[in-house]
Amino acid sequence: MVAIDNLNGERRRQGRIEVICGSMFSGKTEELIRRMKRAKFAKQKVEIFKPAIDVRYSEEDVVSHDQNAIHSTPINSSGNILLLASDIEVVGIDEAQFLDEGLVDICNQLANNGVRVIVAGLDMDFKGVPFGPIPALCAVADQVTKVHAICVKCGALAYVSHRLVDNDHRVMLGEQTEYEPLCRECYQKALSEETERKLSNS
Ligand SMILES: [Zn+2]
Repeated sequence: MVAIDNLNGERRRQGRIEVICGSMFSGKTEELIRRMKRAKFAKQKVEIFKPAIDVRYSEEDVVSHDQNAIHSTPINSSGNILLLASDIEVVGIDEAQFLDEGLVDICNQLANNGVRVIVAGLDMDFKGVPFGPIPALCAVADQVTKVHAICVKCGALAYVSHRLVDNDHRVMLGEQTEYEPLCRECYQKALSEETERKLSNS
């Protein structure tokens, strides 16, 4: 006789890592919130974590640019997630590029224990350099979704968030006035124009 229990009993939860990455204004947070809300409707226990550094709009809420908010817990290091996520079925992590490299191991541990982990973050910084733990997370993820903004110069798919203000700090939180999404071609053009301007000023 077929063991029906295997089908009807409580199905073992499938752990997995999903990464949503892309430039600024590409809708990463909106996509994270969409997946989290859908899990919540399915009566799953969900929790969003984000680095305490990201306090642009609200300490307690992951707020996307269209104000579509969902409650979240600020954390100082990736290790906090393991302590705070016991009993959670779907763990969301926003602005993950600002967290430490330990996040990769934490996500693997959670997924191995049956937790669905959804990570959203910038794939590259404003210079086009891979950002924090995101590249390694893409490597170990079960699913990677790369989302794109639209280039403000030509309307093609954007590739990078070009910083408009002259400041070399890597961690600078984005407002529409400080960054613009650009495609590869327009980004190269903007860089050479900036270099020309600096040379003519000196
Ligand atoms: Zn362009």
